Amino acid sequence: MNNDKTDAHANFATLGLAAPFLAAIADAGYTVPTPIQQQAIPLVLAGRDLLAAAQTGTGKTAAFTLPALQLLSARAAHPHKAGRPRALVLTPTRELAAQVAESVHTYGHHTPLVPVVVFGGVNINPQIAAFKKRVDILVATPGRLLDHVRQRTVDLSGVEILVLDEADRMLDMGFIHDIRKILALLPKVRQNLLFSATFSDDIRTLAAGLLHDPAQVEVAPRNTAAELVEQSVYLIGQKQKRELLAWLIQERQWFQALVFTRTKHGANKLAEYLARHGIEAVAIHGNKSQSARTRALTSFKDGSLPVLVATDIAARGLDIEQLPQVVNFELPNVPEDYVHRIGRTGRAGAAGHAISLVDPEEIKLLAAIERLIRRKIARAEAQGFVPSAADPSPAPAVTHPPTSKRGDGRRREQAGRSGRGRPARKNAPR
Ligand code: AMP
Repeated sequence: MNNDKTDAHANFATLGLAAPFLAAIADAGYTVPTPIQQQAIPLVLAGRDLLAAAQTGTGKTAAFTLPALQLLSARAAHPHKAGRPRALVLTPTRELAAQVAESVHTYGHHTPLVPVVVFGGVNINPQIAAFKKRVDILVATPGRLLDHVRQRTVDLSGVEILVLDEADRMLDMGFIHDIRKILALLPKVRQNLLFSATFSDDIRTLAAGLLHDPAQVEVAPRNTAAELVEQSVYLIGQKQKRELLAWLIQERQWFQALVFTRTKHGANKLAEYLARHGIEAVAIHGNKSQSARTRALTSFKDGSLPVLVATDIAARGLDIEQLPQVVNFELPNVPEDYVHRIGRTGRAGAAGHAISLVDPEEIKLLAAIERLIRRKIARAEAQGFVPSAADPSPAPAVTHPPTSKRGDGRRREQAGRSGRGRPARKNAPR
């Protein structure tokens, strides 16, 4: 990714930040700007629209908050009207809104700028009271912001800078209509910053309609695909994938594997297939109730459920990271989602494992992923895997051992855990 544009010796002053912000940064104890900060801060200060690929943990909040605050303080403000913010940050969740608001406090505390945060699930009255006073920067979740718009407690006609934070999650959570309603209330001339971990077609469409000649920046996620995750690909016909997966789970004695499928239906069918073949597996996706998802997640995390089959969207909202094993049962359509998926493996600095089952129709997707991560993914072969004779699809190349680093320690761990030591079958399940 774009880390070649970053400089390990950079400091905040060279990025163009003014004294009150340098003081706040020093108070926070930061000495070196992160790659996203190095790239984004000068662009935002120059007034550019921005399309930024960066995940939580990269320092992205400061990357937009610092320059936005500086622009607001440098510009002659129109006479302050109560409840009329000059910058608006939209976030998908309450937690993120609260976190961003805290950052605005931290980075702006040597300025007179006033931040306000509003989100749902809490009493609206204190928020209404806050809008009766000066507001410079408003951090909000879309639904609650629209409640305020309906009650005419907030006036969005003075917004000079708009930030969409974690835009992909906002779309996943169904906020697109709310976002469009909010956009319609903003002044036409303004600066727009869009941050997203992934870039689906929907995000690109939103960006195309929103951003004006945007500068683009991207940084590798915290857990970079290229560095921490041992990746391999099995080339195999679509119809044999589930057999191979069941075989791998049993043969390698995986005890905690997150398996991604492209569709909800596919997730259900795969989980049922695995269950029929003696492997406990549960599917989670948008059609499952929240309580069913939470239950599945809890047992997956505590180790009592060895396999969780998920769609990208279901997995996105879940706090499941640092897994030993991620499986792409199908490759995602969007190459960035691959990086997102495999970023869930790796525990405490140790290498995680990500395998992808790739059929001939997915070779193009694989090539796009390899371009994105700038490396060729090792091809593995499943020695000893014998596909069912009943399966009419063409036989895959399956003769030699896969990668050598197969956690034998993990195998011992597995054998010692109660209730899971099923002997691996020598033949593929039917
Ligand atoms: P974020 O990606 O914005 O959620 O930030 C992740 C964490 O990194 C937060 O706890 C920040 O306080 C911290 N952080 C942001 N910028 C820096 C920096 N330049 N140096 C050290 N820590 C930072």
